[in-house]
Amino acid sequence: MSATKIIFLNDFSLVLSFLIRKILTLQPEIEYKFMVQQDEIFKKLISHCKEYGFVFPSSEIYDGLAAVYDYGQNGVELKNNIKRYWWESMTLLNENIVGIDSAIFMHPTIWKASGHVDAFNDPLIDNKDSKKRYRADVLIEEQLAKIEEKINKEIEKASLRFGAAFDVQQFRTTNPRVLENQAKYDELHARFVKALNDSDLEALRQIILDSKIVCPVSGTANWTEVRQFNLMFSTEMGSTLEGAMKVYLRPETAQGIFVNFLNVYKSGRMKIPFGIAQIGKAFRNEIVARQFIFRMREFEQMEMQFFVRPGEELQWFSHWKALRMKWHKALGLGDSKYRFHDHDKLAHYANAATDIEFEMPFGFKEVEGIHSRTDFDLGSHEQYSGKKIQYFDPELNQSYVPYVIETSIGVDRMFLSVLAGSYHEEVLEGGDSRVVLQLPPALAPVKLAVLPLVKKDGLPEKAREIVDTLRFGFNCRYDEKDSIGKRYRRQDAIGTPFCVTVDHETLNDDCVTIRYRDTMQQERVPVSQLETIISDKVSIKNLLKTII
Ligand code: ATP
Repeated sequence: MSATKIIFLNDFSLVLSFLIRKILTLQPEIEYKFMVQQDEIFKKLISHCKEYGFVFPSSEIYDGLAAVYDYGQNGVELKNNIKRYWWESMTLLNENIVGIDSAIFMHPTIWKASGHVDAFNDPLIDNKDSKKRYRADVLIEEQLAKIEEKINKEIEKASLRFGAAFDVQQFRTTNPRVLENQAKYDELHARFVKALNDSDLEALRQIILDSKIVCPVSGTANWTEVRQFNLMFSTEMGSTLEGAMKVYLRPETAQGIFVNFLNVYKSGRMKIPFGIAQIGKAFRNEIVARQFIFRMREFEQMEMQFFVRPGEELQWFSHWKALRMKWHKALGLGDSKYRFHDHDKLAHYANAATDIEFEMPFGFKEVEGIHSRTDFDLGSHEQYSGKKIQYFDPELNQSYVPYVIETSIGVDRMFLSVLAGSYHEEVLEGGDSRVVLQLPPALAPVKLAVLPLVKKDGLPEKAREIVDTLRFGFNCRYDEKDSIGKRYRRQDAIGTPFCVTVDHETLNDDCVTIRYRDTMQQERVPVSQLETIISDKVSIKNLLKTII
């Protein structure tokens, strides 16, 4: 059996130069694995997003606005496709789910009833030396992730060493370093959960001190007290000073659904169980807004509230948990990139909650939350508004406040997960390299590029004719500039699944060369077959069929 050596490199170009320099001295009995460091990949992903028109920093010519981003020409297409995939999976695949679009401004009492005015807080802590502000809970979570990473590295190393004979369970329960780190993790985790459950800010601070967590900027542990910070943005509505009313920019879209429960139930003659879906902007004054579009101050959510009979909520919670995971995995980014994370601390009104996490370049992170919210929201609005918000169940012949299962996913985080899962740097045969976005074809911003081999002899006209026929069904691009190789690379970089090349033969046989993005294989096909070949792979309809 050959040995394996992992070589970490912090730059893709280094992989190339390393290979060129070392190719003659590599030892044949060692299997080398080249891995580009994840933080480098993340930086590259961010600059790739800018260079290829996916995401731009907001207000860039004025030096930007922290944690606010704009979507470019390719980004908006990808984002719209994600929203369409979600919206159709909710409203087309479920007869009992309808959509709404409620206003961003809402009556301020709504945020009192929902608990946001009093309790939508994050625990913040400042480092006195760097003057940087952090979320205390996130600092501790990162510390836990570091310990977990140490354990995983030990396991990874051992699994490479022992090969097929490796028994993870046995290793976990016997290896002294793993056991030591696991004990550290369990102790820290238990303290953290207790501090959160007790809302004990001093205990959170003590954990930070005891764990010797330092500020990444100053490198010191000179921390302030932990304080609560409300995340809602407010503004004034009304023109006169006396008549102005303090209103909030909504921090979630869900409340727009709850306050329209009666309207939809009555006007749509809905029968329980039924759901209301909504996509829209949300705003949070995040304390620490790092990590690109992962944590923004203005972002978009796709939320669905599913109203059920009291007592049946946990059954429906399991149903939605499984279905939502299936929706994510259907994209084909790799099943091992997803996991559930059940909440350590349940909100006082919830009786079950889990997150769907995706393996981002900076670790597994929440992309979607699924919550069993009991009758808290409708009950609370009933109380604050003084209106009866109940459902009459004809089968039970009684009225009740329905229970709610919520599925809540951030469009931008979903966007980031799709990009991170699709971004690949490949070294090709012959030493060439390419950056390719292996986006799920149904989500790709551009579905096909039509490329005349040369800019003359009637090839551009023929290529345009193909675009003119196909543009009604797909987002097509025409490109005649530069060599064919460069044009392929440009399309790879934005994730276009198909390139179609028109050459002189095309004028005689009405056939083109179709090139597949992921395999780079090429095939000669009649122009008349293009529509079928492409629509088979890129249709959201076909994707939806895989999740029912
Ligand atoms: P976190 O713990 O990361 O702050 P959360 O648990 O507060 O997130 P929810 O209130 O459950 O998030 O919101 C539902 C979804 O909205 C999240 O799973 C995430 O995808 C998205 N989301 C929440 N806050 C942001 C943000 N600041 N920027 C981008 N997306 C966000």
